[in-house]
Amino acid sequence: MTVHTHILGFPRIGAARELKVALEGHWRGEVSEAALEATGKQLRARHWALQKDAGLDYVTVGDFAFYDQMANHIQLLGCEPARFNFDAPQSPQSPLSRYFKMARGEDTHAAHAGCTHGHANGHHDHDASNYALEMTKWFDTNYHYLVPEFSPLTRFSLDSSRLFDEVAEAQALGHQVKAALIGPLTFLWLGKEKTPGFNRLSLLEQLLPVYGALLDRLKQQGVAWVQVDEPILGLDLPNAWRSAFESTYWQLNQVGINILLATYFSPLEENLSLTCRLPVAGLHVDGIRAQHELVSVTDWLPAHKVLSIGIVDGRNIWRTDLDAALAVLQPLAARRNGHLWLAPSCSLLHAPFSLAGETGLDGEIKTWLAFATEKLTELSLLKAALENHPDTTSLAISRLAIAGRRASRRVHRPAVAQRLQTLAPSADRRASSFPQRQAMQRARLQLPNFPTTTIGSFPQTTAIRAARARYKRGELATAEYETQMRAEIAHAVGRQEALGLDVLVHGEAERNDMVEYFGEQLDGFIFTRLGWVQSYGSRCVKPPIIYGDVQRPAAMTVAWTVHAQSLTQKPMKGMLTGPITILQWSFVRDDQPRAKTAQQIALAIRDEVADLETAGIGIIQIDEPALREGLPLRRSQWDAYLDWATRAFRIAAAVVKDTTQIHTHMCYAQFNDILPQIAAMDADVITIETSRSDMELLTGFGQFQYPNEIGPGVYDIHSPRIPATLDMVRLLQKASAVIPPANLWVNPDCGLKTRNWAETEAALKNMVDAARQMRVA
Ligand code: GLN
Ligand code: ZN
Repeated sequence: MTVHTHILGFPRIGAARELKVALEGHWRGEVSEAALEATGKQLRARHWALQKDAGLDYVTVGDFAFYDQMANHIQLLGCEPARFNFDAPQSPQSPLSRYFKMARGEDTHAAHAGCTHGHANGHHDHDASNYALEMTKWFDTNYHYLVPEFSPLTRFSLDSSRLFDEVAEAQALGHQVKAALIGPLTFLWLGKEKTPGFNRLSLLEQLLPVYGALLDRLKQQGVAWVQVDEPILGLDLPNAWRSAFESTYWQLNQVGINILLATYFSPLEENLSLTCRLPVAGLHVDGIRAQHELVSVTDWLPAHKVLSIGIVDGRNIWRTDLDAALAVLQPLAARRNGHLWLAPSCSLLHAPFSLAGETGLDGEIKTWLAFATEKLTELSLLKAALENHPDTTSLAISRLAIAGRRASRRVHRPAVAQRLQTLAPSADRRASSFPQRQAMQRARLQLPNFPTTTIGSFPQTTAIRAARARYKRGELATAEYETQMRAEIAHAVGRQEALGLDVLVHGEAERNDMVEYFGEQLDGFIFTRLGWVQSYGSRCVKPPIIYGDVQRPAAMTVAWTVHAQSLTQKPMKGMLTGPITILQWSFVRDDQPRAKTAQQIALAIRDEVADLETAGIGIIQIDEPALREGLPLRRSQWDAYLDWATRAFRIAAAVVKDTTQIHTHMCYAQFNDILPQIAAMDADVITIETSRSDMELLTGFGQFQYPNEIGPGVYDIHSPRIPATLDMVRLLQKASAVIPPANLWVNPDCGLKTRNWAETEAALKNMVDAARQMRVA
């Protein structure tokens, strides 16, 4: 047996988020470029040492980035967009300062204002030419990359020595290096054409010689293997892109360096035989998401090629069931004459750093987990077992943990299973159809035309944040904290009344994060201390872990909402996060389908909805900003997902009477291809982010004849700019042209928690004026 172990990439942010600290210090002007570089070098050295100490056969170089790996490639390949004017002689800039300009724009204050959850969604002020590169999600992860820009004028050249320097750095430390690169086709695919009618694939011919030179340089450095990532092989590719693979890799293979072509996140399906035939030295496949393809890949891949199997889940935090993994690997190893490489399924960028810092974590649950560092050890254990010198002690410990998790009463709650089983098939249906409900709700709510509302959160002031932090640390007694939050709610309600809004909200002062707030109160969730995962640049998120059956032990929002309602005659909108968003922004169980976990969360939210209604709340909003991002990478799997996802939403919502109005909210996304399913959620009102597309998004809703009420956001909450009344009137007129005006609501794009009160009040005042003008028009 010759089994080799490696990883596709490691989290670069550092055990204690050292990179974040250094980066933000640098951006504030407190950390010099040299000091930042030194931090980077230290982190790399530390992460390589972890790989080596865990017994991996290679350390991976090229996964480090100060902001983003795609941005590194833009510099490596010399294709910084011309609009940044980096060539202008008057301002010679260091490569790193150019890099941060691309990542953050010239006006770094406005750069990449995250949406209120802290997820990036790339808003820029397009008036300037040096706004930051757009950011978008890396496949179906919560990591956001910077989007390369392509035009007929794009030229490539080997322009940065960073990668080669890092290779030399690792070699100097005595490591056996495998370099990692984003492949040419994935790089082009993930970019964006900046010239209408231009096809970025036409740049391939120019790009390949530069990749050739790049590989050649690595070869000169004595690098034995280069991992070239082509995850787009797991997507539905147009034919032109598919057929470009063969000639591309034929050309790159001429360099004579061993290429390990890496695929991940998705099965290869119709690209499987093509991928196996490509002229490269090895292939990595995702053994978690594409486990059902492992046997075919093993058969299709010629015997002289290396097969790397991603057997450890790089997207989740669970300890690997080593026995189950060995049962998968052993027959494959036999078919490959004992030659196999083992790796995590994808880069460990998507996993938290290490369990070592989790001092406060529940001891039993902790034994069920493996973060990036622990996953390295798992690879070595698998290798040893395959090579017939198993570490029996470690295997036994692992086995015990897996058995413990499987049998735990904390994971399996019979009452939850029972409730799901006995759930009536009609539980996800409202009693009456929308037109009937609409009439009843109108009679009850007595709202004007073009009713005004907001999306939920009001400014999270320093006072609010400080109070919450002190309360969490135990420095503020519960009673005092509650008094303060009630005062904040009263304040928000008073201001909304003064502004003349029609449907009020309590303002979410008590919430730090729209998922965490609910997860902390639900059974089946656990929170880590340092389980950070990079979202973009220096930003990280700390997703909750759903480890067991979910249920709601007690009401979560009722007291706050009832307090808020008691302060006003206007309807108070209850505010909840939906099951799919909670699922999507958490680490989820791998021992049952996502659909089932979603249903359990849906039932917990349903209980909250019922309690709010009983407490007299007549309007309840269930936010689902993550519904679209949960779409599978393959279109063939969309229907199945949308089916259970929309059903989960309806289970949460449909418990109410016809007279209770259900709202949902979604942030900016391409909705047009899933409109039937959005309609199938059957929310009485949907509010969506539309202002940045100048209402273009609404055209789809109009053409589809979206049946229920809609609140298209009339102003962008990501910008401090106060929108003028006239601008909002114009947007509402535009909306009225495609949506029946009687179905239109007036609201901002998203929650207001990142804004201050002065901006918020000025903007909402104009918004209310705009609605009034529409009513008389
Ligand atoms: N209700 C949430 C808020 O207003 C919605 C946030 C979101 O859509 N991401 O903050
Ligand atoms: Zn939103």
